[in-house]
Amino acid sequence: MAGTNRKPHAIMLPYPYQGHINPFVHLAIKLASRGFTITFVLTQSVHHQISRARNAAAAGHNADIFAKARHSGLDIRCTTVPDGFPLSFDRSLNHDQFVEGLIHVFSAHVDDLVGNLINSAAESESPPTCFIADTFYVWGSAIASKYNLVHVSFWTEPALVLTLYYHLDLLRRNGHFASPANRRDTIDYIPGVRAIEPADLMSYLQSPDIWTVVHRVIYRAFEDVKKADIIICNTIQELEPETISALHSQQPTFAIGPVFASGFAKSTVTVTTSLWSESDCTQWLQRKGKGSVLYVSFGSYAHTSKNDIVEIAHGLAASGASFIWVVRPDIVSSDETDFLPPGFEERVRDRGLVVPWCSQIAVISHPAIGGFLTHGGWNSILESIWCSVPLICFPLVTDQFTNRKLVVDDWEIGINLCDKGSITRQEVAEKIGCLMNGEKLDGLRERIRAVRQKLEGALSRDGSSERNFNDFVEKMEVRSRKKLGMITANGH
Ligand code: UDP
Repeated sequence: MAGTNRKPHAIMLPYPYQGHINPFVHLAIKLASRGFTITFVLTQSVHHQISRARNAAAAGHNADIFAKARHSGLDIRCTTVPDGFPLSFDRSLNHDQFVEGLIHVFSAHVDDLVGNLINSAAESESPPTCFIADTFYVWGSAIASKYNLVHVSFWTEPALVLTLYYHLDLLRRNGHFASPANRRDTIDYIPGVRAIEPADLMSYLQSPDIWTVVHRVIYRAFEDVKKADIIICNTIQELEPETISALHSQQPTFAIGPVFASGFAKSTVTVTTSLWSESDCTQWLQRKGKGSVLYVSFGSYAHTSKNDIVEIAHGLAASGASFIWVVRPDIVSSDETDFLPPGFEERVRDRGLVVPWCSQIAVISHPAIGGFLTHGGWNSILESIWCSVPLICFPLVTDQFTNRKLVVDDWEIGINLCDKGSITRQEVAEKIGCLMNGEKLDGLRERIRAVRQKLEGALSRDGSSERNFNDFVEKMEVRSRKKLGMITANGH
């Protein structure tokens, strides 16, 4: 069959947020290391932001994040596509308008780009055969099918969250979602999920308004994913065995995680993906004792209230613990930038470091870090497990509530920041004390080390994630060859 010996070529399209870009980049490296050609697509805005964060222009660096990877022999090309908004548009402040654009405008740009990539692939080159798109895009299957590409849907959150969205119809039919008064009892009918409380569902499934733009994304994206040829998840089979196998029984679903940054995955290829410039914390950490510092960060995307930030600040001050706190300038809102209590930094000067952004991997893997107060983003949880750092969970939005259940209730490797409704400085100080020195600490550490071993095992040569990765690659190649065969047979 003509074309079968060509290199497999995948177009990869992450959702334009940090927590999605990171696993996509590292998956690209992994696939390229297996001999794939990768065309990695960043929005112009994300590309601009990463370049600015690296100060690429000023330092004369190549703004292409994969330049080093290519230098080491990997065939990864980086290209950009407009997301439909000007570079100056504040995507964080105008979240809903931006997401509307991702649904209605961005797809046309991606369609155009994919068409051009296919048409311009020189005869001697391998034309793209696979489209690996983030599950949150509502039009992944339409573009893949238009260009006869294998559609791989990459899910960057736990399988539990995927299966809940996947079975939204069941939640609806049983009155746990979208009814005038949702049921409050335990949910025990979702395939692969023994039991989950309504309070542990993703925030969107708990909110009374079910027609926001994100809801419209959810309704369409999780119907679209059912048309994907393959689903891959950044999770580990041993951590979510029943959920993965229930999904796999519906359509090919592979747990290939944790898909990690180079420093963690022992790869020699480094790619800097930060959207904001990284403050160096290592010198400060060097002076601190082993396991004595609490790392505090609420990720790249979630907002919180000024009141919560004030309570956390007072709680940190009262706890007496050393800490590094990543306070993103837009954590409350891009409009409100003066939210730390007056005199806070002065009060904690000897033991607290406040930074706008850092290399989380560099910080969390430092031996001085002993705990992580987190919003519970999935990457943060995986990174914390990898470093055996127990967690305090403070979920803010989206999957973070469901992730909290896994961390606190199922795996018992973390504790809740607040057990009641709103947070108070007293409870913050108390929970920090509990995590850093309390009687639960030994148990938390022991269990998180055991979970870390599962991750390590999954990534070892015969581990589940490596096997699943091989199966996924093989399936993708077989389907690509079939498609190439079809192209040749049709004479195109
Ligand atoms: N991160 C970072 N520096 C920071 C905060 C976060 O490098 O100061 C990285 C972190 O390592 C993780 C990603 O940003 O890989 C955030 O993803 P996550 O899923 O934890 O949360 P999200 O930002 O999607 O809510």
